Amino acid sequence: MTIDPDKTALFLDKDLEMSTFAVRPEACPFFRFIEKKGYCSVHATRPGICRDYGCWRILILDSRGRRAGRIMESRHLSSDDPILLAIFAERSHLLEKLPDSDWDDAVIRMLRSAGYVVRT
Ligand code: SF4
Repeated sequence: MTIDPDKTALFLDKDLEMSTFAVRPEACPFFRFIEKKGYCSVHATRPGICRDYGCWRILILDSRGRRAGRIMESRHLSSDDPILLAIFAERSHLLEKLPDSDWDDAVIRMLRSAGYVVRT
């Protein structure tokens, strides 16, 4: 494993390291938590067990059944799908005030209406 070049500063930040492990003392040494989001600082070269782990609440598949994205933690979208990212960029602010369960329902409806398959 090697530290991702774009996460070197996150990994080396001692204050961030202390705040991450103050809240999550059993977290992986490569994990960092900042502004309500978690980051794997070795994401590009993370071990196979991490690649296989389904750390998502909502799985989003495209029309061919390929993984398009995941909703992780309460409302974090992880995706490389440009259409999915655009949908979230354009519409997710409309859902911000919803309670979590209503947010999930609204996001699932939004994704299905855009042609995605959603698994929870
Ligand atoms: S994905 Fe694996 S290597 Fe990365 S932070 Fe999580 S447990 Fe650590």
